[in-house]
Amino acid sequence: MDTAPSERAIQPVFRFAPSPNGYLHLGHAYSALLNEALAAAAGGLWLLRIEDIDTTRCRPAFEQAIYEDLAWLGLSWPEPVLRQSTEQAAYRDALARLDAMGLLYPCAASRQDIAAAVARREEGGAVWPRDPDGAPRHPGLVERLSRTEAEALRSRGEPLAWRLDMERALARIAADDSPLVWTRFTAGGELSTVAAQPERWGDVVLARKDIGTSYHLSVVVDDARQGVTHVVRGKDLEPATDLHCLLQRLLGLPTPRYLHHDLIQDQAGEKLAKSRGSTALRDLRAEGLTPEDLRARLGFAPRHS
Ligand code: GLU
Repeated sequence: MDTAPSERAIQPVFRFAPSPNGYLHLGHAYSALLNEALAAAAGGLWLLRIEDIDTTRCRPAFEQAIYEDLAWLGLSWPEPVLRQSTEQAAYRDALARLDAMGLLYPCAASRQDIAAAVARREEGGAVWPRDPDGAPRHPGLVERLSRTEAEALRSRGEPLAWRLDMERALARIAADDSPLVWTRFTAGGELSTVAAQPERWGDVVLARKDIGTSYHLSVVVDDARQGVTHVVRGKDLEPATDLHCLLQRLLGLPTPRYLHHDLIQDQAGEKLAKSRGSTALRDLRAEGLTPEDLRARLGFAPRHS
């Protein structure tokens, strides 16, 4: 039966968006299963998105393993899957729009330059502030390039990063009638309004030198392009939501609802990290764990009860 456009428009859309820079672990399984369960409960669907912009860390073998692990968990998703590495044009377009608003500035500093600048500032025991993701806060660390200097560097083929001028961005939205807020939802369906605090971030990099975009920019662009209405992700990304909300406002994009779930702890009570290789799903599978065992361990009801 055909569905009226107005009904189609309100179908909730969730997404699970792993990065293929390691094997999925228990925490990813929890996030994927929670997305599936909440999407089903809301009568919606969930999409799989491969966040592979970071070509320095992402590998095809890890992407393949994502498909295998999720299928093993009993999950299925609509095809084609959006792979961010093929979507550079959309990110460039968003970046150009922010640039046209005068909200970006170029930065030529390397990681080493920045680390050295931080070390100088911290010499006397002072602590240079960090963004919520641990990156040293800008501005004030390295001198800003003028546009002419940036053009000269670019004409010599030197790549540049682009940073958001947070002060200008905040000034631009300060005049808006509506406050910058996002809606938190819970598994039980309760909604609450949260005031966004993008000012807890400094001048974040929106386009990295090496890859031309960033997690923050790509995620905001794709959530909007894919019509995502509900974002379910770990608590570690909660501070990023404030920044995403700001970017959505600046770019005129809708703000989805957000649920930031607790992070699954390992036996030692520490957050799981792909980098530490802890409890990869493929290892658990090799040890004989079944998808149903895993569901039970993560607190989900049996699939066919
Ligand atoms: N790609 C991110 C990760 O693997 C998740 C991004 C998100 O859910 O917004 O941690």
